Amino acid sequence: HHTHEPFILCFFFQWEVVQKTLNGSQLYTYSICNVGEREQDNWLRTTFIQRRPSASRVFVELQFIVRDCNSFGASSLTCKETFNLFSSESDADVGTTFRKGQFKKVATIAPDEITGKKELRINTETRVVENLSLKGFYLAIQDIGACVALLSLRVYYKICPATIQSLASFPETVAGGENQALREVSGECVENAISEGLPRIYCTVDGEWVVPVGQCQCKPGYEETEDACKECLPGFFKAEASSGKCEPCPANTQGLDTGALFCPCMDGFYRAPTDPPTGPCSGLPSAPRDLVATTSHLSVGKLLLSWRPPEHTGGRTDITYSIECLRCEGPVCQSCGEKIRYEPANVGLTLTKVTVSELDAHLNYTFTVEAHSGVSAFASQAMPQAHKLPLTNPPKITSMRLVKQNPTSLSLSWEVSPKPRVQARPIRYELTYRKKDDNLDVTTYTVLILEKNSVQIPDLSPGTAYLFRVQALGSDGSPGGSSIEEQYETLSEGHLAHNNTAVISGAAIGGAVMLLIVVIVLFLHRRSVLFFFLNEQLKPLKTYVDPHTYEDPNIAVLKFATEIHPSHITKQKVIGAGEFGEVYRGILKVPGRKEVAVAVKTLKPGYTEKQRQDFLSEASIMGQFAHQNIIRLEGVVTKFKHAMIVTEYMENGALDRYLRDHDGEFSAYQLVGMMRGIAAGMKYLSDMSYVHRDLAARNILVNNTLECKVSDFGLSRVLEDDPEGTYTTSGGKIPIRWTAPEAIAYRKFTSASDVWSFGIVMWEVMAFGERPYWDMSNHEVMKAINEAFRLPAPMDCPSAVYQLMLQCWLQDRSKRPRFGDIVSLLDKLLRSPESLKAIADFDPRVSIRLPSTSGSDGPPFRCVPEWLESIKMSQYGENFTCAGIVSMDQVMQMKNEDIKNIGVRLPGHLKRIAYSILGLKDQTSTLIL
Ligand code: AMP
Repeated sequence: HHTHEPFILCFFFQWEVVQKTLNGSQLYTYSICNVGEREQDNWLRTTFIQRRPSASRVFVELQFIVRDCNSFGASSLTCKETFNLFSSESDADVGTTFRKGQFKKVATIAPDEITGKKELRINTETRVVENLSLKGFYLAIQDIGACVALLSLRVYYKICPATIQSLASFPETVAGGENQALREVSGECVENAISEGLPRIYCTVDGEWVVPVGQCQCKPGYEETEDACKECLPGFFKAEASSGKCEPCPANTQGLDTGALFCPCMDGFYRAPTDPPTGPCSGLPSAPRDLVATTSHLSVGKLLLSWRPPEHTGGRTDITYSIECLRCEGPVCQSCGEKIRYEPANVGLTLTKVTVSELDAHLNYTFTVEAHSGVSAFASQAMPQAHKLPLTNPPKITSMRLVKQNPTSLSLSWEVSPKPRVQARPIRYELTYRKKDDNLDVTTYTVLILEKNSVQIPDLSPGTAYLFRVQALGSDGSPGGSSIEEQYETLSEGHLAHNNTAVISGAAIGGAVMLLIVVIVLFLHRRSVLFFFLNEQLKPLKTYVDPHTYEDPNIAVLKFATEIHPSHITKQKVIGAGEFGEVYRGILKVPGRKEVAVAVKTLKPGYTEKQRQDFLSEASIMGQFAHQNIIRLEGVVTKFKHAMIVTEYMENGALDRYLRDHDGEFSAYQLVGMMRGIAAGMKYLSDMSYVHRDLAARNILVNNTLECKVSDFGLSRVLEDDPEGTYTTSGGKIPIRWTAPEAIAYRKFTSASDVWSFGIVMWEVMAFGERPYWDMSNHEVMKAINEAFRLPAPMDCPSAVYQLMLQCWLQDRSKRPRFGDIVSLLDKLLRSPESLKAIADFDPRVSIRLPSTSGSDGPPFRCVPEWLESIKMSQYGENFTCAGIVSMDQVMQMKNEDIKNIGVRLPGHLKRIAYSILGLKDQTSTLIL
């Protein structure tokens, strides 16, 4: 019950204030007692009572005493025992003016108990005044000759108090009247809860809430506890919005921090793509046991292989087996080839036996049976855990042999001592080779890392001598043992290859045996240092080398970058401006190689030696990377006056610009794909221990297949040429809105601070190149971050993606996901696109940054163009004008259908405009209230 604030009563005709003693306390009453006189008409009126707009029905409670007429003897003839309650509505306070005619009778009030000679009897009566509609009203009491004392008059209305029901909060609501007995009220889900429809409930006349509709449920990662959604505890997860509880992480998974949406697999455990992401992870099966071969005299060339299932299945039932057959003569092993027949098959076997036939007599065959499960393929791709195995000393290479010779290829094999044990992890070999007579200053070495003791090397020059060196690698990847060096020649052209049937298993380069190829240019007159760059899935053997560690930075450039002759470069067109000079699109045509489109960064004339070194440092850094999602260095020009850096050409330029130009044109799936690429590049950099410090959409380049690559590497240069860089008190420059708080506060730049920046890049991507934190100043941004505010979800952003952003922006950097986690999560989302369907809550007022209405009461925009400009949709100005929509009032009437009809077709734009209109309406209604 809400009681109106106190008001006073005014007298009209003969009422008076009388002090009475009641139960020992003094009180004032409005009294009248003209019982002996005829034709009484005495009024008592309240002051103006303002009405809350929604309170159309008020209750009037009166406390009063009426004297028994019998106690007045002769006067009792004219004496009355009732009085009347009147009301009158008004939009304004009329002061002391009183016009009887304007009052309507509400009720005649009669006492239940009359007060006689002795005791005072107090009556309480309540009446309802309904259908009030003006700004306020008056109440009045008309005495027609009774002896009345009015003790109190209370005016109130009923409300349904603000409440939280089924995780939705509903505002305080004034109870309706007879004409609207049930008031429908819509509510909002509590923090971290979501619902499909708008949650609603009804408020009854009596101020009670009934019949809630539209359930709110806690978001993924949250569970319901006492009218709120709390984050799942560490070690628990919840994948979906539901009314369920967080569940403990399943077997072989690791519990993340609080609020986990899923539990990632523990190291060495995996989920097959078909496994539910909420289920347990499984390990790899151990090896099959007790392999037995049975021959029979009756069927020559036939063999029955049988074995027992592996001891450990890794917790899976989908175990299958595959058979591999090798024929070895001396040190040379070759695959048995296609001639041999397996019954039922040699792969995907579910039974623990197989019949092998068509074998030749008197030959040695080696059969290997492997157990696989649903996670095998996935696991070997995901992360061979080479570094997890105990270290072993690499064996020695004892001999190297030429197996086959062709004009363009050579097949080699070698032997090791001690021989690797069966079932032991394969030894890895490092094979380095180069042309023998390559006595130029610059020599090209090719380094292969191999898992077998044989290889066929293609693409060699005919009739040329090559030097080969092979060395075994330890299980940690370190070279060791003795190496062997041999020289072999390719046949000259015209020679046919020997009719040698030996085929080296996994012969072609790029086959499963080979882990990587890196061509490294070495300068022989300097210390030869080899740097290996493993492909993404493998732990790199070497980490990034800071060119600053070289006393002479020029040496670093030479070490990590190929020198290009300027005559091989054709500049075509200026495409950008770097700090050091123009960036051109061009063509690189190195003799003997296909021509490629390149970007050419130039150093403008008049540079200092320091500037030249800073400029080239970018190449020294970039040259150390080899990854699909890192901009590739083609080479440098350092030996001529105009230094240049030549990189692969990225047709679509910088990502921020590109997205702005294609606002709304990509699906969430495509955008997540872009982020996945960036994350993969960043994982590679962080694995190399390289901290980028300036990760932002403007430093990501996009090619014509929409692949995103990380660019902008540099040393002191980092941030100095970034217009977003802001000087800090320590003199460095920092792009505040992309940088983690600890990096701003005490220059703690780590891969974890790169992860923060990656979160901002994700936001930029989902918001199609919107500026993070819009037009807030750097200072405001820092203040907001310190107060734990974070960017809101961009429009149409999948909930899972926004959750990931929020994880990247955790204050505690150790709690942020690593790039490896990010890549896995994004991969997972891409594998099941339904996971992108749940959209994060979006508040149009924040996200389109409508001007604040506080303190202004006009409409937020004066005209349509101004409004369109504010939501960056000015291109549709003409569509609105042509359709005759020229005022904001008209805009506010528009339905989604109308927006489409005037020619807004792109779903992203449609939504942006519709959301903005929604936001406008929202604001207007707020103003009215
Ligand atoms: P940067 O100095 O690296 O920031 O380059 C300046 C601008 O040149 C970039 O914002 C791009 O628009 C353009 N640019 C740089 N490198 C490339 C490239 N490899 N392909 C295409 N455009 C590039």
